[in-house]
Amino acid sequence: KRKIGVLTSGGDAPGMNACVRAVVRYGISKGCEVYAVYEGYQGLVDNGIKKMDWKSVRGYLSVGGTTIGTARCMPFKTREGRLQAAENLIKSGIDSLIVCGGDGSLTGADVFRSEWSGLTSELLENERITEEEAQSYTSLTIVGLVGSIDNDMSSTDITIGAVTSLHRICESVDSIGTTALSHSRAFVIEVMGRHCGWLALAAGIATGADFVFIPERPPAGDDWKDTLCSVAERHRRLGKRKTVVIVAEGALDRNLDPIKAKDIKNILTDRLGLDTRVTTLGHTQRGGAPAAFDRILATIQSVAAVDAVLRSTPETPSPMIGMSNNQVTSGPLMKAVELTHEVAKAIGEKNFARAMELRDPQFAE
Ligand code: ADP
Repeated sequence: KRKIGVLTSGGDAPGMNACVRAVVRYGISKGCEVYAVYEGYQGLVDNGIKKMDWKSVRGYLSVGGTTIGTARCMPFKTREGRLQAAENLIKSGIDSLIVCGGDGSLTGADVFRSEWSGLTSELLENERITEEEAQSYTSLTIVGLVGSIDNDMSSTDITIGAVTSLHRICESVDSIGTTALSHSRAFVIEVMGRHCGWLALAAGIATGADFVFIPERPPAGDDWKDTLCSVAERHRRLGKRKTVVIVAEGALDRNLDPIKAKDIKNILTDRLGLDTRVTTLGHTQRGGAPAAFDRILATIQSVAAVDAVLRSTPETPSPMIGMSNNQVTSGPLMKAVELTHEVAKAIGEKNFARAMELRDPQFAE
């Protein structure tokens, strides 16, 4: 009988609850015991682990965020913290972990698994676990689910929470649009995404923004200010009464210097004389009820995650459940994490075409 632990970690994302619900209920239906680990990896370190039953996750589907909590857990980044986590897991009898989180959380999961035999030997040496426990816990199964509003993970088309967040952004940009139009104003709207421009780019397409700044593809031309002004001015000449610029929080120029909303505002005001306001959408982008798509994505991927646990062997590398061409996929977690880091590397080398291609071939030219 498999004993599965499920946890949500890193930045919260709408749909994480649907993951927990599906892991619990599908896991139970397959004869497993399922445990919730509260507050991300902090719950492993502090032993915040609770057995779930069918009713524990009632009402979870429509609730945003993550009810079992999430945290950024510093102790888990240390070996001492992971040693404690391993002890707690073994004492609670859990043999597999399904982790729903972003690339940081999934990297942590893989570190934990790769250290597993060293951790258990050390626990045995220090008599923190028994010989018998060490023998029944020779390996740890880890399966990753990508919960992130940023859609920043490689090897999957879409991450859990991104569609809800995008929709929330679109609603806000639409609202701003009506007031911008009334007053003939310009608005610079800063959106989340960390180092990824997907939310900004997709919101720009969905709302018909005049200009979008993303890290993966800085504006063409020597100076982004000239490029921005020529576009905004042309649109005004064509009769537009509003100017909407969407800037990703991680936006960069061609020299890799950050482009900030207030700098864009100053340019539009000083050079074009536009009455310009800045709106930082902030945490409203993460909140609210998950979109239907995120509930479905989370549910079908979580079913795949439990199936991956059930067919795992100590030799199989940790899988990450993704989505490609409308099909649920399962591929090596570490490969996906490595490819994700390659985007940052390409940007660091100013190879923007490569960064865009790695990030989103669909939008790369
Ligand atoms: P996200 O999962 O949203 O990318 P973070 O990068 O903050 O968020 O990671 C969440 C948590 O995952 C961290 O607080 C830490 O506990 C764990 N973690 C991240 N990177 C590592 C790592 N290299 N080794 C061990 N744990 C890690």
